[in-house]
Amino acid sequence: MYEIVSIKLAPSDDQSHFHADLVGYVSKHIPEEPVMVPPERIIQRMVLGEKFVVTVDGDPVEVSAGKCLKCGLEPYLKTSADTGDVNRIEQLPSI
Ligand SMILES: [Zn+2]
Repeated sequence: MYEIVSIKLAPSDDQSHFHADLVGYVSKHIPEEPVMVPPERIIQRMVLGEKFVVTVDGDPVEVSAGKCLKCGLEPYLKTSADTGDVNRIEQLPSI
């Protein structure tokens, strides 16, 4: 299991909001420096059976493939704790 801990945002094509350009994950084996990869890479690894989470209010919540909550862009990452147009991954510390 891997934890997504940081994000690099980039403006959407129409500049109205931000998208995850890269996300950073850590694991027990690599706790120091987050490994930054595009969301598509996370989705590929989830398809292969790997599990990714984010911590929300101290609890791990599962990450899955989805759409941007604001414009519907796919592929994108979502969490089971997203509400309204708030994507919990986009709330992570930005680098
Ligand atoms: Zn969007």
